[in-house]
Amino acid sequence: MINLLDLDAADLAAFFAGLGEKPFRAKQVSHWVHQRLVDDVGAMTDVSKALRGRLAAAAQIRGPAVVSDTTAADGTRKWLLDVGGGNAVETVYIPEDDRGTLCISSQAGCALDCAFCSTGRQGFNRNLTTAEIVGQLWHANRALLADGVSANGRPERELLPPGGKARSAKGAPMTAPWIEQGRAPITNVVMMGMGEPLANYDRVRAALGVFLDDDAYGLSRRRVTLSTSGLVPALDRLRDDCPVALAVSLHAGNDALRDRLVPINRKYPLAALLAACVRYLDRAPRDFVTFEYVMLDGVNDAPAQAHELAALVRDIPCKFNLIPWNPFPGAGFRTSPRARILAFQSVLMDAGFVTTIRKTRGEDIDAACGQLAGRVQDRTRRAIRMRPVPAAPSVH
Ligand code: SAH
Ligand code: SF4
Repeated sequence: MINLLDLDAADLAAFFAGLGEKPFRAKQVSHWVHQRLVDDVGAMTDVSKALRGRLAAAAQIRGPAVVSDTTAADGTRKWLLDVGGGNAVETVYIPEDDRGTLCISSQAGCALDCAFCSTGRQGFNRNLTTAEIVGQLWHANRALLADGVSANGRPERELLPPGGKARSAKGAPMTAPWIEQGRAPITNVVMMGMGEPLANYDRVRAALGVFLDDDAYGLSRRRVTLSTSGLVPALDRLRDDCPVALAVSLHAGNDALRDRLVPINRKYPLAALLAACVRYLDRAPRDFVTFEYVMLDGVNDAPAQAHELAALVRDIPCKFNLIPWNPFPGAGFRTSPRARILAFQSVLMDAGFVTTIRKTRGEDIDAACGQLAGRVQDRTRRAIRMRPVPAAPSVH
């Protein structure tokens, strides 16, 4: 059985060609799956009954298996999704005034073993399939619509157009081509969940294609951001295949420190990574790279290190996003104090770089950056550790 969530536009076209059907069928079915968000081939009412029967015999729409669904005090919502073998991944919805962002995972675990990251700590389990990546967006849009959340924050039920029969898990109507009308709850995607997206290149690329496809989610390239720790050859491929907005996890301004914090730096050192960033900018939908920099007390947060960083990227159009480190047990790091983060920010700003400090979201449900562990077995231990671990300061 083919899972329709596994297919990008080219795959879907090939699938219908294989059935001896016209190419427009692929688009029609894509609208049903990704815009009307149905989970049943039988619900595709403008597809002939005969074709629906053939389709039902060969394909299904199989979304993720939800292990838990938790909403934080600030509205951040996290779904833990079972990916088999005792593993789970997390997907996180972050509502803001003018957008709804979904933070998507690309791997169960991660092999790159960055010293400060809890996903890295758990090791690598496996690559997610395209269906498991696309399924996170499909599921979040469905779940949010079912709860009456729309892109503009107004209750969706007030805006319901007539027609349609599909029902959500909770029984709320899910009828319209929400996305065509600009009201899908998720307006932005960040590939910043568990895993290194460029280490699962082919599947991530197919999923990005579905996110951008006007017959599917229709997101613009600037509303889709991929974050990488710096796999240089794959970054060049992304530039040629599907250049979305780029975030690069820098975390250090020299190779000696970055070798320690981000071990992949030993293979692709800073000079090679920054050269790849410049090449990427030829095609990028934005004219800058966002450099992410996790703030670790006494490790990489001294003013002199900010000066070193500014000099390093002097010639690259970029912005900085400073991330207060989110703690997890046994990591051996502390979050930089707020004053030190602000001082670091000032040095970068004075050097002419736009520098934001990431607001910590969803901490109370372990949904903040780098807190995504995602193992079903880990959940008891993680619940216990919530008490002794001090919360990261909330910096704006
Ligand atoms: N593997 C990719 C994307 C996932 S991580 C990457 O490394 O870029 C998303 C961001 O969260 C990265 O910048 C990562 O360095 C950062 N991060 C990881 N662990 C963190 C933690 N404990 N606290 C804050 N940020 C963390
Ligand atoms: Fe992997 Fe990114 Fe975590 Fe590093 S920071 S271990 S690349 S998920």
